Amino acid sequence: MNILTQKFQTKYDTAPFSKIKNEDFLPAFQDGIALAKAEIDTIVNNTNPPTFENTIEALAFSGNTLDRISNIFFNLHSAETNDELQQIAQEVSPLLAEFSNDITLNTDLFAKVKTVYEQKDKLDLNSEQITLRDKTYKGFSRNGANLPENKKSQLREIDKELSRLSLQFGENVLAETQAFQMHLTDEKDLTGLPEGAIEAARSLAKNEHREGWIFTLDHPSYIPFLTYADNRELRKKMAVALGAKGFQNNALDNQENVLQIAKLRFQRANLLGYKTHAHFVLEERMAENPEKVKTFLNDLMLKAKPAAEREFKQLTQFAKELDGIEQLEKWDGAYYSEKLKQQLFNLDDEKLKPYFQLEKVLHGAFSVAQKLYGLTFKEIFDIDKYHEEVTTYKVNDENGTFVSIFYADFFPRKGKRNGAWMTSFKSQYIVNGNNERPHISNVCNFTKPTETKPSLLTFNEVTTLFHEFGHGLHGMLANTVYPGLSGTSVYWDFVELPSQIMENWCYEAEALALFATHYHTGEMIPMQLVGKIKESASFQEGMATMRQLSFALLDLGWHGQDPTSITNLKAFETQQFAATQLYPDVMENAMSTSFSHIFQGGYASGYYSYKWAEVLDADAFAYFQEKGIFDTEVATKFKENILSKGGTEPPMVLYKRFRGQEPKPEALLKRAGLL
Ligand SMILES: [Zn+2]
Repeated sequence: MNILTQKFQTKYDTAPFSKIKNEDFLPAFQDGIALAKAEIDTIVNNTNPPTFENTIEALAFSGNTLDRISNIFFNLHSAETNDELQQIAQEVSPLLAEFSNDITLNTDLFAKVKTVYEQKDKLDLNSEQITLRDKTYKGFSRNGANLPENKKSQLREIDKELSRLSLQFGENVLAETQAFQMHLTDEKDLTGLPEGAIEAARSLAKNEHREGWIFTLDHPSYIPFLTYADNRELRKKMAVALGAKGFQNNALDNQENVLQIAKLRFQRANLLGYKTHAHFVLEERMAENPEKVKTFLNDLMLKAKPAAEREFKQLTQFAKELDGIEQLEKWDGAYYSEKLKQQLFNLDDEKLKPYFQLEKVLHGAFSVAQKLYGLTFKEIFDIDKYHEEVTTYKVNDENGTFVSIFYADFFPRKGKRNGAWMTSFKSQYIVNGNNERPHISNVCNFTKPTETKPSLLTFNEVTTLFHEFGHGLHGMLANTVYPGLSGTSVYWDFVELPSQIMENWCYEAEALALFATHYHTGEMIPMQLVGKIKESASFQEGMATMRQLSFALLDLGWHGQDPTSITNLKAFETQQFAATQLYPDVMENAMSTSFSHIFQGGYASGYYSYKWAEVLDADAFAYFQEKGIFDTEVATKFKENILSKGGTEPPMVLYKRFRGQEPKPEALLKRAGLL
């Protein structure tokens, strides 16, 4: 018997990590897929007329075993991987892709789903069931299930070509990134750089058995160079190299790929009955359509522009006084901003870190969750964990009812990928009246403790912890029937609301008082430091906003209109950037040719969601501020209408129920100091 396909005989039904062996995974996946297929066959072969229960609901609960195996496997693959798991992932990924295709291309299954879908209002369904019905139907129709055979094959051709082109796009960007390095041999060229950046550059050179220092276009090398290097010519060299990626008329040029991708996406959308790719994508977003996104972006731009221009003027003045710079260029921005910021705030991580001991910050997050939602977190030692550094908690509500298991895995190590994320080992759902509670995990890469000091976080790490914990609460408090609509299974431009809103508490004296005490002396963080943290958080927000808006507008430019007539990429970009431009254009640079978010990753027609989510979290938090940041009435509304609802209803409906009105950008503008 395979440990992964049996019912886990464990406390709280937690994953039995100590008993799972790598070699269990592949057969478990195969069994899980076979089981899910059999469940789907049962639905298809049912001779009774299709109903919501025997079709849509049955499909929603199919594949449960496979989901759990997948959750456990892919979480380990991210947080505690090894060569064997990597190898298994290679073998399993095509199996899963094939299985998922088998479902969406199953015409008999779709016919049943469609029959139920078309009964529309004749069925007596609640709002969660309506959402499930529509989502299920769209899962097929958006993949072409309604198309005649010849158009279906056209769609497959486009999909194949698109995946080839994005792959090519990504490979070109990677190759261009790796093709450039700046090799320095004169120590004078390093002035201004922090010790860590110099050491890293030295070790890059050493690896290649060369003298001196090597800087590359990888972020950990590039960013410090642009921020700190005094040598303006070298900063320019790096910046121009970065902006030229995919735009050098060489074998790695991405211009044609970008044009092709945009056109094929447009064709694909047309084929499926949508006006543009953005219309197709936004149908399943809170923003709904490109017109609304465009209004949103332009509105923000008009409001941010005066502040951005003021900041740009201030920065220009500062650079002129300091170094006699007449025209501020792109490669000057980070450098002079950092110097100006130091002059204005004189706030560095080392001053703050002693007040942010990891254990205290985590318990601070727990206290905030207790005050708001009545949750208690008790560390437990009687369940398995996948690594000794992981800590485990049992979460109860104010009545002592079990809510969730919470795993916290905070330190970097070999086999763990970079970044910070929330995930789950088990989703929440209700079956046969049984509310199956979720198992939620936060995985981060924070500063490790040393022999003499505990783990002391930078302020950025503090907000990251609260952010991921916010996603965690969305998972923990989930209370829906269907697993596919539970917790964080919400529209993409809504998923960052629960996480980003939590960051707001990190700036509030009343919340900081719960946890920001000196690790050694126990003294509270000085209020003057808190004030500076708040102020510096909105430093140059106008310029930062314009930058984000310029990317979002470019994204919408490519995807929100017919791109067939675009032939010159650079000219198109110039036109798209006209309204947001602050720095002089660099002729030999382009943005789209290395804009991986939208031409390789999944952000096409979605870049606006960064700002969208900020508007949401600022607007929602403003409601807390009106009534008090620990006001339980507002908190209960947030819990009942947002955190527990997952994707059971359209996000705007949920939001309005919480807030009493649609979100407005004023709170964000105020927080960002743009009003
Ligand atoms: Zn997030």
